[in-house]
Amino acid sequence: MRIAFFSTKPYDRIWFEPMAKDYGYEIYFIELPFSEETVFLAKGYDAVCIFVNDHVNAQMIDTLHEMGVKALLLRSAGYNHVDTRAAKGKVAVLRVPSYSPEAVAEFAMAMLLTVNRFTHKAYGRTREFNMNINGLMGTDLYHKVAGVIGTGKIGQAMIRIFHGFRMNVLAYDPYPNSNLDVQYVSLEELLSKADFLSLHCPLTPDTHHIINEKTISIMKDGAYLVNTSRGGLIDTQALINGLLAKKFGGVGLDVYEEEEGLFYEDCSDEIIQDDNLARLTTFPNVLITSHMGFFTVEAMQSIAHETLENAYALENN
Ligand code: NAD
Repeated sequence: MRIAFFSTKPYDRIWFEPMAKDYGYEIYFIELPFSEETVFLAKGYDAVCIFVNDHVNAQMIDTLHEMGVKALLLRSAGYNHVDTRAAKGKVAVLRVPSYSPEAVAEFAMAMLLTVNRFTHKAYGRTREFNMNINGLMGTDLYHKVAGVIGTGKIGQAMIRIFHGFRMNVLAYDPYPNSNLDVQYVSLEELLSKADFLSLHCPLTPDTHHIINEKTISIMKDGAYLVNTSRGGLIDTQALINGLLAKKFGGVGLDVYEEEEGLFYEDCSDEIIQDDNLARLTTFPNVLITSHMGFFTVEAMQSIAHETLENAYALENN
């Protein structure tokens, strides 16, 4: 199989190149994103491999179909960037539904612990040989209420971690899982009771801006909020207003509403320009990372393996 691999980052080559050799597949690594302008580069390939920033519309699907491309291999769990309806019967869309839920949940907990204990501030101070702990007082997690929105694979890993910290865990999900050792409550109850809130639902029309002026007003004063899911779950302006009103104890954002074109379009150290992002970085109790919750050795290995397994299954069916 010949695969055109778009939005290539240096780390992709490390995992995909040797594994593809084992499968006997030929990969053409392209650094450009997959778009209406670059779709033609897939001519002569059996499959196109894309990342979450590569949006695929109906017209691009038709072009792929006409060029004889059989599959879109998504090296991601999310597929909201692909017109799957248009792809039906034309191009197979294969994703990696679960690569390492623990990677993301552990990262969410790392963010929460960091903002709660001001580790990010302490790091800066000690590097300047300033050992002052004034202003760095945190709170215990022990016996506090943790709220989890979305109890899928990552949400479940998060619940296990919160239980490990002996927290009282509440969850909200429109599709509750009766096998889980967690108390499901309404969204309003969860928001009003959680000391620490972690978002693990997908971005859909229903969840877009699930954290907004109204839901923020329901949250406890001093609550902590962590988002490792999708930026669009939070209304950024409402979040900034909440921070200005000193509503939050701390906020951790691995994803950001306007991150496309900012965070993972390339792997350069180019300085990015975004007013709301710049605003958010001015709050000492806000920690922002660049969509890297998934980024562990184990998850990358799993993404590469599952993506190529998807190609293999397609070829052998
Ligand atoms: P999943 O599909 O296993 O679980 C999602 C859960 O959300 C499901 O239980 C679903 O019922 C629930 N849900 C759906 N609509 C909801 C709503 N309106 N309110 C509350 N819950 C709702 O997905 P997952 O593997 O656990 O991933 C969760 C999200 O994490 C993904 O959608 C993706 O956006 C994000 N993610 C981020 C990274 C990262 O690097 N930061 C990596 C992987 C995934």
